[in-house]
This record gives sequence, structure tokens and C-alpha cells, in this order.
Amino acid sequence: MPAALPTHFAVQLPDWVTSELSDVPDTLPTDEDRVRVVNRLAARNYQEGTGGPFAALVVETETGRLRSAGVNLVLASGLSSTHAEVVALSLAQAGHGTWDLGAPGGPALELVVNWRTCVMCYGAAMWSGVRRLLIAGHGPEVEDLTGFDEGPMRDDWIEQFDQRGIEIVTDVLRAEAVEVLRAYGERPDVVVYNARGRGSIHTSA
Ligand SMILES: [Zn+2]
Repeated sequence: MPAALPTHFAVQLPDWVTSELSDVPDTLPTDEDRVRVVNRLAARNYQEGTGGPFAALVVETETGRLRSAGVNLVLASGLSSTHAEVVALSLAQAGHGTWDLGAPGGPALELVVNWRTCVMCYGAAMWSGVRRLLIAGHGPEVEDLTGFDEGPMRDDWIEQFDQRGIEIVTDVLRAEAVEVLRAYGERPDVVVYNARGRGSIHTSA
């Protein structure tokens, strides 16, 4: 292998996440409890400059036990794939010691996010082994208020999750989540790191 090629990358949660979670209990019994935490983390994430207004948790569905927390770390890490969902799922898998969060014998786990996933995290959620996706809301607000591009999501995204045994729960503290997106979008210094609009197809003649 050519010597100059990189061989390693790592992602670490910023210290502020630990302090933000210091008053959060080990278990989050209700859907509202869970979404309230992701809304808090999402709001603080952009204020801290670590990434966009997005956060995620992995939680045991039945008990509400918190298994991991993630925030969008694209700006902090310089890695475009470090969306909150990928960070939370990866940390849960690292803590779990397996790529399958739905492995037999373990408790059913869910991913909690402050808005519907982008197209990348749609796949990441689907392959992670979680059995439930809890989102504050979905709709055009994220793109209208923040300028972020969710990518070419399928119209039947809920049905696709359903076919793979993943339950979708939405519209939990939705107004609170929209307010986080709105506050972010109104900042004069927003950085939108996403696909660069319309591309073009090149074919070799
Ligand atoms: Zn994403």
C-alpha cells in the first residue's frame, strides 16, 4: 500500500455533551422524556459550534435506559458522515460490542432523533439493528428553516422501515423541535455542509 494513505479515523463526543447530560437520569421512561433530551442536545450543539442542530440517542425501548448519545459532529470532526444518528448508533454498537443492536437475547433498542433522518442516516438506522425510530417530527421544516438537504428520501420511507420490522413514532414535542431548527436558521453565521446543489452527469464519450 502506498505509505501516505490514511489508515485510521476516530470520533469523540465533545466534553460539553457530558455536562449537558449531567442532570439527565439513567432512564427516560416516556417518548417525551427522550425527545426532550435530543432537542436540548441539538440546540446546544450548534451553539457550541460542533455541528448542525441535530442530536440522537439510543435507548432501550421498554425500560428507557439510555445507551448512547450523539450529536452532529461534522464541523468538529471534519467528517461528513458524522451525523448525530451515525454517532449515536456507532457509540451504542461500540459499547455493546457488536454491529447488531438487535442481536438475540438483548433488549429492543430504539433510535431517538430530533427530526427525520437524512438519506444517509435512513440507511444507517435501517442497518443498525434498532427496532424503533422515535422522531420529533418530519416534513419540510428542516429544509425550509435551516437550508440542510435531506437528500432523495423515498416517499414510502415509513413503509420501508415497517417492512424491516422497525416501528416509526413521530410528532413528539414537534413544536419544540421546530423551534430549535428555526433558531438555528435565523443565525447569521450558519454553516450548511451538505451536497452542493445540482450536479451534472459526465459520461465518457
Ligand atoms: Zn443524517
